[in-house]
Amino acid sequence: MAVRVRFAPSPTGFLHVGGARTALFNWLYARRAGGTFLLRVEDTDRARSRPEHTRAILDGLAWLGLDVDEGPVFQADGVERHRRDALKLLGRGGAYPCFCSAGELAARREEAKRAGSGYGYDGRCGRLDPALSQARADAGEPFALRVRVPEEAIGWEDMIHGPMSFPAGSIDDFIVLRSDGTPVYNLAVVSDDAEAGMTHVIRGDDHISNTPKQILLYRALGRPLPRFGHVPLILGPDGKRLSKRHGALSVLAYRDDGYLPEGMLNFLALLGWSPGDDREVLDVGGLIEAFSIGRVLKKSAVFDLEKLGWLNGRHIAAARGAGLAGAVVEILGREAREEGRDLAGSHPGLETSPERLARIIDLVKGRPRTLPALVRQVAPFFAATIRYDEDAVKRFWKRPEETALHLRRLAERLAGAAVFDDAETLESVVRGFAEELDVGAGRIINPLRVALMGQAVSPGIFEVLEAMGRERALARIGAAVRFLDARVGAA
Ligand code: GLU
Repeated sequence: MAVRVRFAPSPTGFLHVGGARTALFNWLYARRAGGTFLLRVEDTDRARSRPEHTRAILDGLAWLGLDVDEGPVFQADGVERHRRDALKLLGRGGAYPCFCSAGELAARREEAKRAGSGYGYDGRCGRLDPALSQARADAGEPFALRVRVPEEAIGWEDMIHGPMSFPAGSIDDFIVLRSDGTPVYNLAVVSDDAEAGMTHVIRGDDHISNTPKQILLYRALGRPLPRFGHVPLILGPDGKRLSKRHGALSVLAYRDDGYLPEGMLNFLALLGWSPGDDREVLDVGGLIEAFSIGRVLKKSAVFDLEKLGWLNGRHIAAARGAGLAGAVVEILGREAREEGRDLAGSHPGLETSPERLARIIDLVKGRPRTLPALVRQVAPFFAATIRYDEDAVKRFWKRPEETALHLRRLAERLAGAAVFDDAETLESVVRGFAEELDVGAGRIINPLRVALMGQAVSPGIFEVLEAMGRERALARIGAAVRFLDARVGAA
């Protein structure tokens, strides 16, 4: 049987982390099985549904790369079918008209509360003489349709939780069509899932209480049951249900913060699932290949931003420099515009030498965890003017006079280096110079790093020199010397 699954968000908010994970598990399940992934927008709550939320959900899925095979279909478009299905239930004896008014029901609920007993619909309209019931309906008395719930336990074999069962008597006859003719949620879901031929329904744990009702509806409609799998909640690190407080934002907010879709997908997949070996860093292909719904844990998953950062860093490191270049150009371009400049002025050569940019990204991409952090590593290679980090200056340019002298003489050596496109040659120049001076190599390398990069951390300094190229490296050293000379003069 070909697998058909769906993601069925309500467009009452953005695509948040929990929804995205549900979408991902369905998508992985479909891709792994060569099945179909359908998107259904559950927009029957007209008051809370908004087109901009639908848009944001589609954008979120697109950013993550969760491509949809069918849809989006909109639940509200199926309302006539939902109604027909409700009437079908009536025709088959699976449902009956209920004439109890909202006021009567509220009064009975109140009474039960006073008596300290739980309230459940007592099924009284289900016991009406059918002829009488028909006569009342014909006379125009408003009625809702209620499902006749059999006196038996309702269970299913959950793909994640294993055997699940609701005991007989735990579900009372529930409404499927309100007296104003609007179908209720559970009926709409079953009608849609049956119509679309869903073979598996994978959704959040918060829907477990809906499942026995939906199973009853499938049976009463004579439609084949899908298999159900309920994915556990995501908790914040404090053990409370995940919320904004924990950084549980729209997935697009993570895009804007500089996370890669690959990192986000990897992170989402590991919320409650693991491949069963010690692998943690998986690309999309790896996720599809390793995914199995049976390995999703029954217990809640914990949302850990630190882990997201780490995984994202691994995906940045694994990406090709050329593939990250566009994002770097975009971020620096935006920053330049915000300062009223353009990229050619603020970072000459960045946009016009893509190969060099790709090479530099490849050089620095091992450490940063987000795109902005990557940009901070790349920018000094191109920046028209370099700013010296204060702490780096304090630490490594403590003796301005000596440092200026060293850098000046080092610049002469570098100017005369036989080649500049070979880190090893440059290393022997720098180390040779330190030996001549009879100082540790660090005494030369650390001040040089501040001169070239403006900061105390960078990839290997010889690779930095090589990537920067002779002209720019010498210009940087020259600027550092002027800066240091000015300090000496001012002292
Ligand atoms: N619309 C529901 C939600 O957003 C999902 C319903 C389902 O998956 O059955 O929680």
